[in-house]
Amino acid sequence: MSLSNGRHYLAIPGPSVIPDRVLNAMHRAAPNIYTGELHDMMPGLIADLQAVAKTKHHCAIYIVNGHGAWEASLANVLSRGDEVLVLATGRFAHGWATMAEQLGAKCTIIDYGRRAAVDLGQLSEALEGDKGHRFKAVMLVQVDTASSVKNDIAAVRRTMDAAGHPALLMVDCIACLAVDDFHMDDWGVDVMVAACQKGLMTPPGLGFVFFNDKADRARNSANCVTHYWDWRPRAFPEEFYMRFDGTAPTHHLYGLRAALDMINEEGLANVHARHATLARAVWAALDAWAVEGPLEPNIADPALRAHAVTAVRIGAPNGEALRSWLTENAGVTLGLGIGMVDPGQPGADGFFRIGHMGHVNSHMVMGVLGTMQAGLTALGLPHGKGALDAAAAVCAQV
Ligand SMILES: *Cc1c(COP(=O)(O)O)cnc(C)c1O
Repeated sequence: MSLSNGRHYLAIPGPSVIPDRVLNAMHRAAPNIYTGELHDMMPGLIADLQAVAKTKHHCAIYIVNGHGAWEASLANVLSRGDEVLVLATGRFAHGWATMAEQLGAKCTIIDYGRRAAVDLGQLSEALEGDKGHRFKAVMLVQVDTASSVKNDIAAVRRTMDAAGHPALLMVDCIACLAVDDFHMDDWGVDVMVAACQKGLMTPPGLGFVFFNDKADRARNSANCVTHYWDWRPRAFPEEFYMRFDGTAPTHHLYGLRAALDMINEEGLANVHARHATLARAVWAALDAWAVEGPLEPNIADPALRAHAVTAVRIGAPNGEALRSWLTENAGVTLGLGIGMVDPGQPGADGFFRIGHMGHVNSHMVMGVLGTMQAGLTALGLPHGKGALDAAAAVCAQV
C-alpha cells in the first residue's frame, strides 16, 4: 500500500506546476509558421510580457532555459576584458558570473553568504572605490532560488545613483517574475532575464531578455555578441522568423499565451498577493515547527524572504530523508537543497526547498504542509506543534 498514488505534485522551485489550460493550448497540430495566427499573436505576447515586467522597453525571446537567457544577456553587453561587479546572495549570481568569466569578462564578486541579502553599505563602498568607472555592469538576482533570499532591486539602483556610477544594472528574475513584484522601468533596471518555467507556468524552453535603450547602446560596442545571441533581430524583427533566428517555438508560444491569459484574468496584483499570502502560510508552519527540533527557515527575516520558494535547514541527513519520505509516501516532491554548502563538503542533504510559485493555490500549499507534518512524525524528527493551524489561519484571512 502506498499513499502516493494520486496526482503527483512537484513542489519544487521550477519547473513549476503546468496548468491544464497551458497543456491543452499546446496540444494541437503544427501551426502555419508562414502567416496567420502565430504571427498575429506576437505583438500581444510581447505586450503582455512587458506588462508582467512593468517595462515599456524591449523584449527578446530565445529558445533556451534560464542559463541560455543568462548567456544571451551577457553576450549583448560585454566585451572581452570588461569588468563587472557581481552581488552574490546564494548560488545563482555565482553561476551567471562564471558565464561572464568564460566570455572573457573579469568579475569582482561581493559574496554576502547564503543567508543574507545584498548589503548596500558594502555595495556603496565598492562603487565609490571604482573611481575610473571600470565596472560595466552590476549583476544580481532578485530572488536567489537556492537561499530563497529576495534582494531590494530599487535600493541597489538608488545606491548606484548615489555613487554616480554609470554601470548597467542587470537583474535575474528567473525565479520570481510574475511571483514577486518587479518594476523594470521604475526601478531603473537596464537588463532583466527571465524564463518561462517558473512564475510563467509554461514547460521549460523559453528565455527572455528585457533591455532598455541604454543597454542597447552598450550592444553597439559589445564584442561578445554573436549571430544567434544578438537581441536586436529578435526584439526588432523585420520578418517573423528573425524573432527566433529560425523556426519558432510554436507550441511553447501557445502555452505561454494561455499562461499570460490566466495571469491577465486573475490580475497581476492579485497574482502577487496570492503568492505573498501562500508564502506567509508556509512560513507560519515553518515558524511553528522550528520552536522545537532542527528545522529552521534559511532566511530569518521574513522581509527578506522570496514569495516563490522557501529554503529550509533541517540538518543532514534529515532534509533528504524528509524529501524521500514525501516522494515515496505522499506523492509530493520537494526541492533539493542546492548551493548551501561548498561543493565536496558533507551536509548537502540537510536542506530542502518548498516551491510555491506559479499555478499554486491554498489547498496545494496546505497539502504540502500537511504531508510534511506526516513525514516529520513518521521519521520521528522533533518539531514544534500547531504548524498546520498556523498555516490555515493565514489561508483563512482572505
Ligand atoms: C531557475 C533559475 C536559473 C536557471 O534556470 P534554468 O532554466 O535551470 O537554466 C537561474 N537563476 C535563477 C534565479 C533561477 O531561479
